Amino acid sequence: MLVSLIVPCYNEEAVLPILYDALKSVRESLKDTDKEFEFIFVSDGSRDKTEEIIKGFAENDPDVRYVFFSRNFGKEAAMYAGMQKAQGEYVAILDADMQDPPALIPSMIADLDSGECDIVAARRVTRKGEPPIRSFFARCFYKLINSMIDVEIADGARDFRLMRRQVVDAILSLSERQRFSKGIFAWVGFRTKWVEHENVERAAGETKWSFWKLFRYAIDGIVAFTTAPLRLATYTGFFFAIAGFIYMLYYFIKAIIGRLWDTDVAGYPSLLCFILFIGGLVLMALGIIGEYLGRTYIEIKARPIYISKEESESKKD
Ligand code: UDP
Ligand code: MG
Repeated sequence: MLVSLIVPCYNEEAVLPILYDALKSVRESLKDTDKEFEFIFVSDGSRDKTEEIIKGFAENDPDVRYVFFSRNFGKEAAMYAGMQKAQGEYVAILDADMQDPPALIPSMIADLDSGECDIVAARRVTRKGEPPIRSFFARCFYKLINSMIDVEIADGARDFRLMRRQVVDAILSLSERQRFSKGIFAWVGFRTKWVEHENVERAAGETKWSFWKLFRYAIDGIVAFTTAPLRLATYTGFFFAIAGFIYMLYYFIKAIIGRLWDTDVAGYPSLLCFILFIGGLVLMALGIIGEYLGRTYIEIKARPIYISKEESESKKD
């Protein structure tokens, strides 16, 4: 039975040899079983020696396969390409930086073999080694998104997972361009078993995620999986319309009954505040609509998720 291990790589020259050794020892440890392996490296437009290193692996190892992108398309695209290339009955995705411990793979394979689940996914129980402010925002994000969408996205869930062919085919069938994998993995369903591990810091190199990139990613995730923000705009609009109406009635009655109160010409500041506040809300609502409209535009163009410039042959059976 073939097991495909997919590794998205973006400028990972520093860690690739370490990772490859770890993958080889996984293969070695299971060599007496019916499991065969293919290692699929997807270079996401790397500009360092990543691609040369991968080709070096492929020359000496018939189990190594690769896809090189024409530019950086993002990890989501790299995972998609890897899954398209994978031919295994079981398929795993793991980061190049050893943060997804390859040593867990044999036990994950055993879990799938036992037949009690279709996905074995890893989840960090601690966020040790991560800046506290980042952990804080990450927690808020999971709370927020889970309150808005139908499926549950697990806090600390990583992309590291081993899946059955059926699950992979389901994921590949969601061919949207703006891919938010955490959501897609949850959306396709199936029985998931969680294995928990401590946060591991990357073995070498540095993370490609800036805080700003993560923020964009969070917005993308929400917009990709729910239209709740659009409703928010409707509700706020509704609220202010009612408030405005009541205010109008108040002045109307006041005008009819006559000068029961002092007519105050003052109130310029409050007027200004209201105009600014409402103006802000209107712009925000427009922005929210724009987010969705923009994404519709991108989806409707139906461009490919990635463009590969070079690919190894797939495993022949
Ligand atoms: N990665 C990628 N394309 C990108 C950014 C990252 O393929 O544009 C890969 C990267 O090489 C690594 C994995 O995605 O294998 C996770 O990246 P990183 O370690 O930078 O993210 P973190 O672990 O900090 O979330
Ligand atoms: Mg990492």
